[in-house]
Amino acid sequence: MQPKICILSDETINQIAAGEVIESPASVVKELVENALDANATSITVEIVGGGLKLVKVVDDGQGMELEDARLSIVRHATSKITNAHDLFHIMSKGFRGEALASIASIAKVEIITSIEKGWKLEVEKGVVIKERPTARVRGTTIAVHSLFYNVPARKKFQKSAAGLSAEIFRVVTLLCLAHPEVGFELINGGRSAIKVAKGQSLEERARDLLGEEFLQGAFSVEFQEGPLKFSGFIGSPTNTRTNKLGGYLFLNHRSVTCAPIAEAVREGYGTRLEEKRHPTYLLHLDAPSDLIDVNVHPQKLQVRLRKEELFREKVKEAVESALSVKGATLQVDRTPFERPQFVEAAEEMVSFSFQEEAEFELSYAKGQFLGQMGPHLLLRDDEQLVILHAKEAQFRILYEDILAKMDGKCESQGLLVPFTIQLTSVESAMVLTHLDAIEKVGFRLRPIAKDAFMVDAIPPFVNEGNVQAMIAQMGHDLQEFIGSEKVKEQRKAKLALITAQYGSRNKDYSAEEGQKLYETLLSCKDCMHSPKGNPIMVRLDHDKIEHLFTADKPLAKSPKTGRG
Ligand code: ADP
Ligand code: MG
Repeated sequence: MQPKICILSDETINQIAAGEVIESPASVVKELVENALDANATSITVEIVGGGLKLVKVVDDGQGMELEDARLSIVRHATSKITNAHDLFHIMSKGFRGEALASIASIAKVEIITSIEKGWKLEVEKGVVIKERPTARVRGTTIAVHSLFYNVPARKKFQKSAAGLSAEIFRVVTLLCLAHPEVGFELINGGRSAIKVAKGQSLEERARDLLGEEFLQGAFSVEFQEGPLKFSGFIGSPTNTRTNKLGGYLFLNHRSVTCAPIAEAVREGYGTRLEEKRHPTYLLHLDAPSDLIDVNVHPQKLQVRLRKEELFREKVKEAVESALSVKGATLQVDRTPFERPQFVEAAEEMVSFSFQEEAEFELSYAKGQFLGQMGPHLLLRDDEQLVILHAKEAQFRILYEDILAKMDGKCESQGLLVPFTIQLTSVESAMVLTHLDAIEKVGFRLRPIAKDAFMVDAIPPFVNEGNVQAMIAQMGHDLQEFIGSEKVKEQRKAKLALITAQYGSRNKDYSAEEGQKLYETLLSCKDCMHSPKGNPIMVRLDHDKIEHLFTADKPLAKSPKTGRG
């Protein structure tokens, strides 16, 4: 039969277009919150049920809509934000395409309650207003999206589990919170408050609430202004790096974006302070005239194109460089000639070692001869080299690899005679609950007993009880960054092992046997030169290097200048 050309119905067109803008409940949250921000809201509440598939509700205290505008808001290409193509190059608002609400309304049942002075409630189905009545509401807008994808089963089928979808929403809201520290946000997941941040915060306060104290520790503050370009925020210390890019938060005119040239420029700003394959952590807000930025290249506006890209790169690099120079350049450690092995996430077999195996300990050390200890450092002789070992960093590396190797099964766990409780923030607690299985694999046993409180029944044997509260809180904080990531399981494993190993390693006095054993075990590690955080573990000096210390005109490493310069 001859194929016939048909004109698609509006409903079908909207559904197809919706696929571009609305991929998942997280996209709904993003679009609705951005509308609230465009309406100058100062407090925004997001409520989700069933990962957002059952309900996404966004309540704002913004400027509200007249009845006529509310009716128009769900019509495709209806927008109050631009009127012609010229405006496209001067976009100050989040939205401008006028298709979010139309798209959402075509694939869900939508309720709009809005008020400037008089409140109205509209019920929308299949993109059409089916009911309309006056209602009482203070100024602002509430948009409730029920049964997302109810009429596009193919799309619904490919959604993640409710927990996975909630996690994605968590990430989206976190980014929106970081983009707008001045606005108060609350995310309620299944009736539980999961994120709550006050309005009127500084970027620093917001970062502390959402990313944790660890993010800011050792970070450098960036304040840079040149002409209309303004950069501000924080960049992490060169030693606090990641193997992935998830620790980098970039906002361009208060919009969370990925922008490879800028990320690259941040890296360049670190210069040689950063090791290859490691990524810095940063939280950067860039403000630039809107005509230098093209946001109209991605349907969800996640990517941007820069006009005058070179200028941006140069200035970002400069800003990072000058931020890092404030505390004085870090002393460059003479990295050993060993090639740095790739950071491994414990996928392969690993030599297993446990601090519990002291009894089986035998003396057969050809490897290193223990010479002594000076504070945190052990001195050993290995062949014709003098080895200076940072004992705590070595312990950190060994524990880390040991935990990673055992996590597929379960690490040792020690039941507590007297269990105790820990109290977390609601964000931490939500994340701990989500990842409880993985946390228990490290050797903890936690029981939720009240809102955001857990009873600790068992801990890994090498962990100090006094650290448990801080450790679990940090786990809760840090697990947020993997939300939505595809490799979440591997990344989560590495992160939990890292936190546990870090708290498990401490300074102590070493006997000769212990010192040698530590060194030998270290040598069997996949990376014996760097702590899991990238800090050097040991320095090796051969005859030439030692001789050089006596004869050279200039010393091997300069200490930072002191005194009046
Ligand atoms: P866009 O944001 O691209 O303009 P949307 O479909 O997201 O398109 O929204 C359509 C219009 O509905 C907006 O331009 C705005 O006028 C109005 N609107 C949507 N949400 C709100 C809100 N929370 N408060 C006030 N007005 C809103
Ligand atoms: Mg919009």
